[in-house]
Amino acid sequence: MSKKLQREIAKRRTFGIISHPDAGKTTLTEKLLLFGGAIQMAGTVKARKSDRHATSDWMSIEKERGISVSSSVMKFNYRDFEINLLDTPGHQDFSEDTYRVLTAVDSALMVIDSAKGVEPQTEKLMEVCRMRNTPVLTFINKLDREGLEPLEILADIEEKLQIECTPLSWPIGMGKRFRGVYNLYRKELNLFRPGDDIRSTKTVKIADLSDPQLDQLLGSQADELRDDIELLEGAANPFSAKEYLRASQTPVFFGSAINNFGVQEMLDAFVELAPAPGMRETAERIVEPDEEQFSGFVFKIQANMDPAHRDRIAFLRICSGKFTRGMKVKHHRLGKEIALSNATIFMAQDRANVEEAFPGDIIGLHNHGTIKIGDTFTTGEVLKFTGIPSFAPEHFRRVRLKDPLKSKQLQKGLTQLAEEGAVQVFKPVTGAEFILGAVGVLQFDVTMERLKAEYNVNAVYEGVDYTTARWVECADRKLFDQFQKREQGRLAHDAEGHLTYLAASEWRLGHTMEEWDGVQFLKSREHS
Ligand code: GDP
Repeated sequence: MSKKLQREIAKRRTFGIISHPDAGKTTLTEKLLLFGGAIQMAGTVKARKSDRHATSDWMSIEKERGISVSSSVMKFNYRDFEINLLDTPGHQDFSEDTYRVLTAVDSALMVIDSAKGVEPQTEKLMEVCRMRNTPVLTFINKLDREGLEPLEILADIEEKLQIECTPLSWPIGMGKRFRGVYNLYRKELNLFRPGDDIRSTKTVKIADLSDPQLDQLLGSQADELRDDIELLEGAANPFSAKEYLRASQTPVFFGSAINNFGVQEMLDAFVELAPAPGMRETAERIVEPDEEQFSGFVFKIQANMDPAHRDRIAFLRICSGKFTRGMKVKHHRLGKEIALSNATIFMAQDRANVEEAFPGDIIGLHNHGTIKIGDTFTTGEVLKFTGIPSFAPEHFRRVRLKDPLKSKQLQKGLTQLAEEGAVQVFKPVTGAEFILGAVGVLQFDVTMERLKAEYNVNAVYEGVDYTTARWVECADRKLFDQFQKREQGRLAHDAEGHLTYLAASEWRLGHTMEEWDGVQFLKSREHS
């Protein structure tokens, strides 16, 4: 293994930000990009968001409802580190997409609104991180406003998210009395001046809290800080890098993203503590990042990044080896060799052709319908990265075409949208019309808009009385034949041809499962 490859891996950090909508994810992202020199001006990320709205018709849904549907990838440099930031959609209806994005990160940053504490979407996203043992660093935001007591927030996190908290910074007051944070990690005081949009320069090194300088700087709040820290020393868990990397402890920072306060301290700790790209599991074996062989998997397909070109970009996470422009790789699902000649790397405002890239990097491949979510590419060995599932849908609609002559377009559109993971598509074993399944109902709206805009298909939805689905498998051929005969009215094939049982209720499903003891009913399924 080459030294250069190891060096490149060591300086990479690939992470996603998780938060409930409005906690400040966009604002924080923007400040991180400012520090990375990826943007020059605050307001750029938001501006870019609204730009996209104006030019893309299906994204009007996002605009109308003030939500972020699409996620994107941003690369920037900070100190000697190369950082890949993966944006996740905040709305819970797109949680399947978020889940897949989180399969491509090595760690996560959780943003919490200090006035709200842990919110429902934070809980859901943390559940995903826990399932994958993803290390999480926490940023408590909006200290410039009145909020919950810091200890209360930590208790809330520990209770609701089942993760031990260890504060690495501690706020001094909040709202109007917010004076700054004491950095427990570096033993320095960072004083807050409202409205600073650049890094707060007023940092005072105070190794010993009994230092009278503290009283001069903070007045009566100096003793409050001393009391708080004394309390913490007795009550809080000491920081352990090992526990953080095992995802059983989260280091906590306090600040105010909009005032750019506490952000750089957090970023400094993040690059030092967060894990570099790690190993990945495949069906065959574990792949280490510093193997010479190139390997990677596609975790997301995004359409309409550039509405003028109706493009579809497949995002691939590099898991091992080095990517060089034009290299030939094996597309394992198709069993074909292809040349990766125009891969793209995404910066905050730009995209550029990439000449070389390393594990942890995300490259965008132009996709003309040959790449699906879950596809694996390597320079030879047959591998299949695992852990990129589809989840059983909870909402269903039947699609009825208004113009029967458009059935080919409808089929094409639905196949492509299913490959992107925008929606799940089922073809009933008996019956001609497609049934769509989704984890969140907004997926239906996006699908319909896109069928119209991109495939010129005019269709409507009809309700169907299904509420749940399971993929079915059975080793006993005879039993499975019997099952299929008896239940054919409730069976459908998904876009990849897997047989699925659609049920009107949990009760009905339970009943059928009992009746067909030898048949397996699966709640999630790996992409094949
Ligand atoms: P997102 O939905 O998580 O991306 O949240 P945004 O970054 O869009 O922020 C939501 C709202 O909170 C916006 O109005 C921001 O201006 C505001 N906000 C973000 N950070 C802070 C902060 O540190 N203090 C205060 N007072 N408001 C903030």
